[in-house]
Amino acid sequence: MSRDSQLALIDGPAIDTDVVIIGAGPVGLFQVFELGLLGLKAQIIDSLPAAGGQCIELYPDKPIYDIPAIPVCTGRELVERLLEQISPFAAGLHLGQEVTEVHRRDDGRFHLVTSRGTHFRAGAVVIAGGVGSFQPRRLVVDGAERHEGKALHYRVRDPAAFADQDLLILGGGDSALDWTLSLVEHARSIVLVHRRAEFRAAPASVTRMLELRDTGRLDYLEGQVQQILEVDGRLGGASVRTADGVTRRVSATHVLVFWGLHPKLGPIAEWGLDLNRRALRVDVERFQTSIPGIFAVGDINDYPGKKKLILSGFHETALAAFAIHSHLEPGKKVHLQYTTTSPIMHRRLGVTPPADDSAVEPLRRSGTA
Ligand SMILES: Cc1cc2nc3c(=O)[nH]c(=O)nc-3n(C[C@H](O)[C@H](O)[C@H](O)COP(=O)(O)OP(=O)(O)OC[C@H]3O[C@@H](n4cnc5c(N)ncnc54)[C@H](O)[C@@H]3O)c2cc1C
Repeated sequence: MSRDSQLALIDGPAIDTDVVIIGAGPVGLFQVFELGLLGLKAQIIDSLPAAGGQCIELYPDKPIYDIPAIPVCTGRELVERLLEQISPFAAGLHLGQEVTEVHRRDDGRFHLVTSRGTHFRAGAVVIAGGVGSFQPRRLVVDGAERHEGKALHYRVRDPAAFADQDLLILGGGDSALDWTLSLVEHARSIVLVHRRAEFRAAPASVTRMLELRDTGRLDYLEGQVQQILEVDGRLGGASVRTADGVTRRVSATHVLVFWGLHPKLGPIAEWGLDLNRRALRVDVERFQTSIPGIFAVGDINDYPGKKKLILSGFHETALAAFAIHSHLEPGKKVHLQYTTTSPIMHRRLGVTPPADDSAVEPLRRSGTA
């Protein structure tokens, strides 16, 4: 982290907020809630195009059994419920952009910049970056890099861009098959290449793809791309070595690679925070990192006894929220209040409890209540 080294950048137009949360995984989302209960506003940023972190990227349809009071829900359902739960706090959600820079200003506030050039100013930062930002597994063959973002893609932003195009799609998981089945409607031709005969995608998608191959709507090759081919400096296709040992030339105007994502700690490792084996060291009272005002919750942090569970991350967000409040308003006492009985909490949550709720006395109040 550089300290006010780029004043022009730091004083330029930016989104102002109490707290910026880096990472919209389950823990980053719940951090919005815990901050909101204390009256703190948040903006949340994620490099992925959708909120949910590992739950959405790695296991959206798998059941989770260890979320308190929810006997079972899928990764996707958990994220949907969290998004609903935090909706009263109207946090800004900035997806598809990685936080690349964090600067501490002279006034103690922080300035953050994303890969899309969005600027934020905040009194505190919570890093809820999980195992890092997810990066696509790249095609590393001659000629690939110079076509990235033009004719070589790791993500479909606009399906219409592939209408009437010749597509070479690489991969055997759900993304590769889903996009093959979706783009086949509009593309001029599609060749799907997967390195082995077994697919990781849903069986129904594989069956459908093979039906389309049998009716001549697309081609499927078991093999590996050896090289990107160019025609007049433009991407013209790829050479593919197939399982029978033959190298074939596949013509294409676009190559789409869906080999999954792998986590990379990325820029977080360069912000001068104490690390222990790719995790951020925090104290267990505030979940603050080695830089005051920067907190870390969820899978990204490290402390004695740390367990990388959603449940543990949720607990950390509650304590971090109180610590952040104290950081932003030093000396001001933060009272613990129950959502059941506190009119302030009800106002913040935008709820109107039943009229007779005052008849219900909590069993025990904390010493600071
Ligand atoms: C297959 C599988 C099954 C699991 N099952 C369970 C289970 O049953 N119960 C359980 O408790 N846990 C389970 N887990 C673990 C659980 O998913 C994690 O503990 C949880 O996702 C951690 O949440 P998080 O918000 O800390 O991080 P993540 O979910 O990893 O989210 C972090 C987010 O931060 C973003 N990010 C990182 N760096 C940046 C940056 N610089 N800029 C912008 N964005 C950034 C990433 O893109 C990501 O979206 C499972 C994990 C896997 C892989």
